[in-house]
Amino acid sequence: MSNVASERPEGSREHTQSERCLVCSENAQREGLCEFHNLAKSKLDENYNVWRKAYADISYTDYLEFLMRLPETGDAILALARLILERKGGEAGDNIHRL
Ligand SMILES: [Zn+2]
Repeated sequence: MSNVASERPEGSREHTQSERCLVCSENAQREGLCEFHNLAKSKLDENYNVWRKAYADISYTDYLEFLMRLPETGDAILALARLILERKGGEAGDNIHRL
């Protein structure tokens, strides 16, 4: 199976989805996030898996709240964490991976 369809030359400026990054309003690449924040998100998730082991199944929300209090947390992560927590507000369940 070859999947070349998703690779387009930059010339054909697609305007199918003018979706914007939920954090910084740049053009979103996927999941409503720009390339930069997608990267931050995967780091966030990666790190969560580490934390989950270290802190006996800490919840994603607790993890984010904890991160936000750490001085070494970068701006991108901070903004993402805030966004995710905001979106999570009110709704129960753990469908955070849909963002
Ligand atoms: Zn962004």
